[in-house]
Amino acid sequence: MPKSVSYVCLACHEKEDIPYDVVRNFDLMDDGDPTYPPQFACESCGGEMYPEYYKGIHGVEYKLSNLQETKKD
Ligand SMILES: [Zn+2]
Repeated sequence: MPKSVSYVCLACHEKEDIPYDVVRNFDLMDDGDPTYPPQFACESCGGEMYPEYYKGIHGVEYKLSNLQETKKD
């Protein structure tokens, strides 16, 4: 099990390692849309962050590369 999850800011591309426990707790509390990973705000600009790779508690895999692919059109 990873110790942390690398989140990347979608606005300024700042990277932040968020402890896995914290991400998981957010995931547990969030009973909303499972197509979105736990959301964090960038400390530099307040923008939306997305994990480079994170597998959620429901088995859904979130990848930044997938997000960028779907944003092309
Ligand atoms: Zn940012």
